[in-house]
Amino acid sequence: MENKTLLSSLPKVDVILNDKSISSLKDIPRSIVLDGIRETIDDYRKNILEGSINSFTFEDIVKDALIKIKKKNSMHLKRVINATGTVLHTNLGRAVLAKSAIDAVVNIASRYSNLEFDLEKGERGSRYSHVEELICKITGAEAAMVVNNNAAAVMLALSTLCKGKEAIVSRGQLVEIGGSFRVPAVMEQSGAKLVEVGTTNRTHLYDYENAINENTGVILKVHQSNYKILGFTEEVSIEELMKLGNRYNIPVIEDIGSGVFVDMSKYGLTYEPTVQESIKKGIDVVTFSGDKMLGGPQAGIIAGKKKYIDKMKKNQLTRALRIDKMTIAALEATLRLYIDESVAIKEIPGLRMLTLDIETIKRNSKKLLKMIKSKIGDRCDIEIIKEYSQVGGGAMPLENLETYVIAIKPYNISLEELDCKLRNLEIPIIARIYKDKMLFDVRTLFEEEYRIITDSLYNIFQE
Ligand SMILES: *Cc1c(COP(=O)(O)O)cnc(C)c1O
Repeated sequence: MENKTLLSSLPKVDVILNDKSISSLKDIPRSIVLDGIRETIDDYRKNILEGSINSFTFEDIVKDALIKIKKKNSMHLKRVINATGTVLHTNLGRAVLAKSAIDAVVNIASRYSNLEFDLEKGERGSRYSHVEELICKITGAEAAMVVNNNAAAVMLALSTLCKGKEAIVSRGQLVEIGGSFRVPAVMEQSGAKLVEVGTTNRTHLYDYENAINENTGVILKVHQSNYKILGFTEEVSIEELMKLGNRYNIPVIEDIGSGVFVDMSKYGLTYEPTVQESIKKGIDVVTFSGDKMLGGPQAGIIAGKKKYIDKMKKNQLTRALRIDKMTIAALEATLRLYIDESVAIKEIPGLRMLTLDIETIKRNSKKLLKMIKSKIGDRCDIEIIKEYSQVGGGAMPLENLETYVIAIKPYNISLEELDCKLRNLEIPIIARIYKDKMLFDVRTLFEEEYRIITDSLYNIFQE
């Protein structure tokens, strides 16, 4: 058909609105229904002009409008199923909260709370009071406070201790943390001037010492969280930096990145320095994320010497960086789990997934395989293969965790199409294409998700 004829045969909004399947959408706000219809017609018009469609029926348009309307009416921020095997996937929301943390959020968010009210004295209190003691108890620090995320924590620390002054940092530690955010750029926003010393692979104590002058504000150590420099390398230890800092009366700040409270090497993972160790070595200030290895909500935790933390609490910037009550609730509940390390490992989903033994993973993969096979076994090759999971979240970049994945090779649908359909489910499933197979890593799956995955695959393969 001619474009002109096609265009003129596009139905009017009112006509679509009166179709029974659309007019029966009583629970959806009218403006959403109208937007959905208009956008659907616009899409058709565009496709006709581009020549990508040359025929359609009224039913086609109604069907597409229904899909669009339902999509517009559903939450844009959705729960997804993480079948990638990357435990702390920044794009998929990093840490999943423990049950007690979720309960705390619901409890605090749905009613009033003592967020900034001192119940003992009956007067105004501090929002940091709910977690400061716990952080100190777990890490051994004198004082602590919490802000929006670790980037904010670094910024607040520098703004308080180094504004208009120089922060000395090793060239081997100038990190980019994903989404093209660079730690050095964030740091400069604080008003501190970065002075880079040493080389990419080697920085010596004398490099720091040579850079010290009357305008030095802090010495900064940044943990190489998402990369490693291997081979001919040299980094200066916290102990040495502290000695130097003390000699010149300059505070030493460490951005440790992922806040690990548990020595994970006990569980067979790569050793990562813990927050407790830094404090024990006498660091002045240490900052870390709440939603990486710690397994809590997005937050930036600052712990260290009281004289410095007190100064930060008075910085006007805290008002802009302050954390919400839901975050405090989740953080307090998460921190409480660390009072007993074995409880933390069991209750915090990320830690549990990272410490899963390979036999459990194997058993789970067999269970999922059986479920999927019974539904779509005639439409694809399906097998269990040995693979590797990642820690993610800028932690333990070299760690390859042995795992088992379900590998599916469909007969009648391409992997790209399957991937797209999985992403567009009501509960999207994020899997991984490797060579000619779609991989589902069971490490990051919750058991109740096996049924959802099985049914979703069945529906996709039925279409
Ligand atoms: C992840 C990371 C950050 C940023 O932490 P956010 O909590 O995401 O703001 C900063 N520094 C290091 C070394 C990191 O690994």
